[in-house]
Amino acid sequence: MKVAVLAVQGAFIEHEKALERLGVETVELRKAEDLEQDFDGLVLPGGESTVQSRLLKELSMFEPLKKKIEEGLPVLATCAGLILLAQNISNDENRCFATLPVTVKRNAYGRQLGSFYYEGEIKGIGTFPMEFIRAPYIESVEKNVEILAQVEEKIVGVAYKNQLAFSFHPELTGNDRIHDKFIELIKVSNN
Ligand code: GLN
Repeated sequence: MKVAVLAVQGAFIEHEKALERLGVETVELRKAEDLEQDFDGLVLPGGESTVQSRLLKELSMFEPLKKKIEEGLPVLATCAGLILLAQNISNDENRCFATLPVTVKRNAYGRQLGSFYYEGEIKGIGTFPMEFIRAPYIESVEKNVEILAQVEEKIVGVAYKNQLAFSFHPELTGNDRIHDKFIELIKVSNN
């Protein structure tokens, strides 16, 4: 199994380390040619979604990656990655892949709560250390989107078909259970 990690900006190295701890080979996507190799899953890391979105388009990676996601490539998206997947963003006009039928709000916790830590429940995983950094939250979901985690009534984790998305940064806590769940999703979709 090989998992590609979008490596144009943001916290991609930490995702690579988490996957490698679980024995999964990773490849970095930095330019269009990197998409020519075979891979079984994709990680969209946290960072700055506007910068990532612009770079994806400038580097000609946007169209081919969108197609792969629409065709069922398993994706794990965290924080800015969730914004890249969202079909709607309530406080931004830009859209990136728009493959996940949810409405997100960027920088949703405002300045004072820009960054915070919370231990919350994730469906199918249990209590999880959640590191929020200028995080979005999900304001609403379309039907068929499964809600996996909520923090004080705000949705912070969802699953939809081949896409798993979280508002926080599971790669920063050294707890690999979300990555493990993602690997399970890849195995199921490969069968
Ligand atoms: N605030 C960032 C954005 O809107 C996301 C922050 C993060 O990925 N930690 O893109």
